[in-house]
Amino acid sequence: MIDERLVEREAAALMPNYRRQPVAFVRGEGAVLYDAEGNAYLDCMAGISMTNVGHSHPAVVRAITEQAARLINVSNLYYTEPMIELAEWIRDNSLGGRVYFCNSGAEASEAALKLARKRGGPDRPEVVALVEGFHGRTYGALSLTGQASKQEPFRPLVPGVVHVDRDDLEGLRAAVGPRTCAIFLEVIQGEIGVLPVPQAMLELARELADAHGALLVFDEIQTGLSRTGTLFAYQGAGVEPDVMCLAKSLGGGVPIGAVVAKPGIDATFQPGDHGSTFAGGPLACAAGLAACRVLADPALQAHVREVGGRLLDGLRGLVADGLATEARGRGLMCAIDLPRQNAADIVDAMLAERYLLNNTTPRTLRFLPPLVVTAEQTDGLLAALRRTLAAARTT
Ligand SMILES: *Cc1c(COP(=O)(O)O)cnc(C)c1O
Repeated sequence: MIDERLVEREAAALMPNYRRQPVAFVRGEGAVLYDAEGNAYLDCMAGISMTNVGHSHPAVVRAITEQAARLINVSNLYYTEPMIELAEWIRDNSLGGRVYFCNSGAEASEAALKLARKRGGPDRPEVVALVEGFHGRTYGALSLTGQASKQEPFRPLVPGVVHVDRDDLEGLRAAVGPRTCAIFLEVIQGEIGVLPVPQAMLELARELADAHGALLVFDEIQTGLSRTGTLFAYQGAGVEPDVMCLAKSLGGGVPIGAVVAKPGIDATFQPGDHGSTFAGGPLACAAGLAACRVLADPALQAHVREVGGRLLDGLRGLVADGLATEARGRGLMCAIDLPRQNAADIVDAMLAERYLLNNTTPRTLRFLPPLVVTAEQTDGLLAALRRTLAAARTT
């Protein structure tokens, strides 16, 4: 499946911080990736909700190509139009305030954390986040991430972060107070296996943030831009944050991150407070604008709800037949729990069937296909999964 020389060169040249599947891709189109021999694989994770427009989407390719030929990057010391256009788009389609650009999800979490700390001042050093939440790997983002295994080797972390279970209403009530500058959460926790934060918890977070003058920050890095069937997951939940973090799908595959705030909060950063050399560059923003226009199409959102519903129905069918213990999801963000701790084996077996999946825990499989995945491709995935899970049960 993969040239062993490539595996050896990788091991000798790259730090071993990733466990890679034994396959190398050279081309992609829609929800399909191709290896060097031309074998087609159905991408059921889209780089963890990154290439949601599909691989090498023609509108994104055109935007990148045209922009690259004119101007790739220039310093933030000068004006360029693509960043203004993309910021206007994000502002007008979400919280109505101004935007800060960065280059990744972790950087968006960092920026939102710094914004909240600056706005809160020295008397509000505390941040509340959720256990099993994920906000990225840099120090501030890692400190918000409520997963001990990811934090442990890197202590001491940024101080002041308190973690509360995603369904612990009383815990949240106790944690938020006059010293809290922000509550950070994902509407649906992706990295731990697509676990929705209960509606009552979202509503209470909004209420407590208002009562105590803290910011409610939603990390929509994985859920945002139509993944769950609405443009943002908060719109589906009917609870609006003060600040929202975006990245992943925002660039159509090109690195970019963004933080958008409500008016009144969006002037917290002043010149000199924060920044990044590459951030808001014309190439990334041109790609972002093209991706956003594709992802915000109501027809695509209807497709996400329809095909997502088809996927979830099929996954529930696996539960009904004892091949899985639980299926959950919203739009094209779905997961199943398995009866045994063999999710990694199922991922390997599905790779042999040419379906790209990932497992978030030893017994949880996550499904995040590009939003352009077709009903037929989804049916193919479900059939292969059923075969694979049935075969694994008898071995
Ligand atoms: C992926 C992810 C991040 C981190 O984004 P990077 O671009 O990998 O730094 C943060 N929050 C959520 C919810 C994510 O899914």
